[in-house]
Amino acid sequence: MADFAGRNAYVHGGNAVHAVATVRWLGELEVPAPLCHVGVSGGELAALRPTTRAVTCRRCLRRQGADELAALPSTEQLTLFPARR
Ligand SMILES: [Zn+2]
Repeated sequence: MADFAGRNAYVHGGNAVHAVATVRWLGELEVPAPLCHVGVSGGELAALRPTTRAVTCRRCLRRQGADELAALPSTEQLTLFPARR
């Protein structure tokens, strides 16, 4: 489970990258799960894969705060509209 330390995760087969939060499973076991708690079930939990990519899940971003929400689109705008003149 240490694989998820300081990383984000995505559900295998899905496109959204989720922030990872440690949740209690079955009372005493602590397992990584999407911060937004989307699709958390026994089966999908096993399909959670660690990634270093930026979080794209909007519900995770909202839970993390506005900081990363503001940082994400601005990098795309920089490539669309170069400041160089
Ligand atoms: Zn999410």
